[in-house]
Amino acid sequence: MNVKAVLFDFGDTLARHALSEEEVFNAIFAELGLPRKDTRDIKRALDSVRQEFLAEGRRMVKGETDFDEYWIEWDSRVLRKLGVKGDVTPYAEQVHRRWFDHFTFTMYPDALPTIASLRRAGLKVAVVSNGTEQELAEIFGRLAIDPRAFDAVIGADTFGAQKPEPKVLLDTVASLGVTVAEAVFIGDKLETDGAGAKAVGMRYFHFNPDGKVKTPAWAERLEALADLPARLSQGRPPK
Ligand SMILES: [Mg+2]
Repeated sequence: MNVKAVLFDFGDTLARHALSEEEVFNAIFAELGLPRKDTRDIKRALDSVRQEFLAEGRRMVKGETDFDEYWIEWDSRVLRKLGVKGDVTPYAEQVHRRWFDHFTFTMYPDALPTIASLRRAGLKVAVVSNGTEQELAEIFGRLAIDPRAFDAVIGADTFGAQKPEPKVLLDTVASLGVTVAEAVFIGDKLETDGAGAKAVGMRYFHFNPDGKVKTPAWAERLEALADLPARLSQGRPPK
């Protein structure tokens, strides 16, 4: 089967994070005159709030809760877990407002050229992110990326589903007018990108440039985005 569409995750697939989420919290704490925290404690607080907010997150991406209120409550809970006393809401509002000043990305240098070359070859290209459309627009704006560089930019709220839920990849390929068998997915995270592709039976490239994580046998490791056109024309390797 010929590949007709290429779907990319965004963060750490097309663009690299400058700072980790923990480091972003500390950068904002410094601006607000709050003491820095141990990044391991921040990570623990973030992981625990992420678990507590699974249901709220699903409501938010379905448009059932307000985006700003959701994140301010999220950040408030992180701050309380980190031992910030009293009314944390004003701090949480600042964390939310300042987030993308620090949570910045650098595009991998071969990302946009690879996408352009895939599209010149007649393939459809989409971004499928677990960020919201609003967050993606903010990030693209800061990177001066024209969204028309892609055939579709899909956020978690576009179809009201987040990777690894099958709905997001199924609705994306349907919107591009291709089948699952005609599409491939490229992403760095096995738990969201890989599991999502596996759930719908889509060919999956594990973007894994430094090899820090082991690529499982059910996935194909991709070390550089620029290798993708050749890998696609070689076809799927035998199992
Ligand atoms: Mg990613």
